[in-house]
Amino acid sequence: MTRPIQAVIQLSALVNNLLVARQAAPDSKIISVIKANAYGHGLLHVAKALEESDGFAVLSLQEAVRLREAGFTQRILLLEGVFTETEMVTVTEHCLSLVIHTYEQIAWLRHAWAAQRIDVFIKLNTGMHRLGFAPQELPQVLSALQTCPILGRVILMTHFATADEGEGVREQLAVFQELNRPHGLLASLANSAAVLRYPETHADWVRPGIMLYGASPFNDVSAAELGLEPVMTLRSAVIAVQQIKAGAHVGYGGTFTADADMRIGVVACGYADGYPRHAATGTPILVDGIRTRTLGRVSMDMLMIDLTPIPHVEIGAPVTLWGEGLSVEEVARAACTISYELLCARAERVPLIVLN
Ligand SMILES: *Cc1c(COP(=O)(O)O)cnc(C)c1O
Repeated sequence: MTRPIQAVIQLSALVNNLLVARQAAPDSKIISVIKANAYGHGLLHVAKALEESDGFAVLSLQEAVRLREAGFTQRILLLEGVFTETEMVTVTEHCLSLVIHTYEQIAWLRHAWAAQRIDVFIKLNTGMHRLGFAPQELPQVLSALQTCPILGRVILMTHFATADEGEGVREQLAVFQELNRPHGLLASLANSAAVLRYPETHADWVRPGIMLYGASPFNDVSAAELGLEPVMTLRSAVIAVQQIKAGAHVGYGGTFTADADMRIGVVACGYADGYPRHAATGTPILVDGIRTRTLGRVSMDMLMIDLTPIPHVEIGAPVTLWGEGLSVEEVARAACTISYELLCARAERVPLIVLN
């Protein structure tokens, strides 16, 4: 018998979630963000399900090339541009769009040759202080770009630090709007949180990521309330059952102590599968569709669960770690992290089962 853990990818949920993004930002083009192997969901089948997108954003040249070689003709944006000058050859060969956030990258573009023009997204730092030029550098950046023979369209871009939190986008949006912006330049600002909550940020291109995978970017609104459907369901099964006595300890470090005799289950899923080790006793989990909790520390390949609410459960009972019936955000909160980290952390050894 093979180990029962699987990540089931429901493609129809991607189609639904893209529609939610379209309805939220009806006047903008959509660049679906499929970096990090489509947030752990698998690049090519996700891109295919999202083929109605106006473009795709990825991080690595390898991902961009895989998309082109699979026949995708949409815009493909490299979210951090290129990391070396030699990568420019691949950019021009595959007609990719570039984020530009340093003068070095502009010099590399200047030296590149191509039959087609390359569109450039100028990354501006409006307050997150991660990547991007300072707003007052824009004129200088634009004139440096004018010296690049293969320069195509220019799009101004920024990224929000707190679109998903109480602070919102007000300050950064104000900085963006006060830019000395030459007429006719397009703009791209919004991540999922801004797509859903701040129409004033939508502009020409929106860049939803997490919402496409059916997770809510907000702490105070659930994915279901936003009309989003989970794409990944991480499933496994009970592989052992133990009857333990009051006072017995469970797992490494013995961090959980039974206060009465109880039945516990062992699930084939551990941190080497991408399940968070920081998920404490009490993290929600579904067994046979019934909600129960994890017990003690998560091991590398296994975790333990409380079978008290489901006394009938035997070896082989199906378990849902997250996904359909149990939101990944809820599990992430119990592990003091965010859904993004859990989805991206799916390990290679967890097979993807792709359903239409
Ligand atoms: C990852 C990323 C996004 C998508 O963000 P979500 O919060 O997942 O919607 C958008 N823009 C940039 C620049 C990113 O790096």
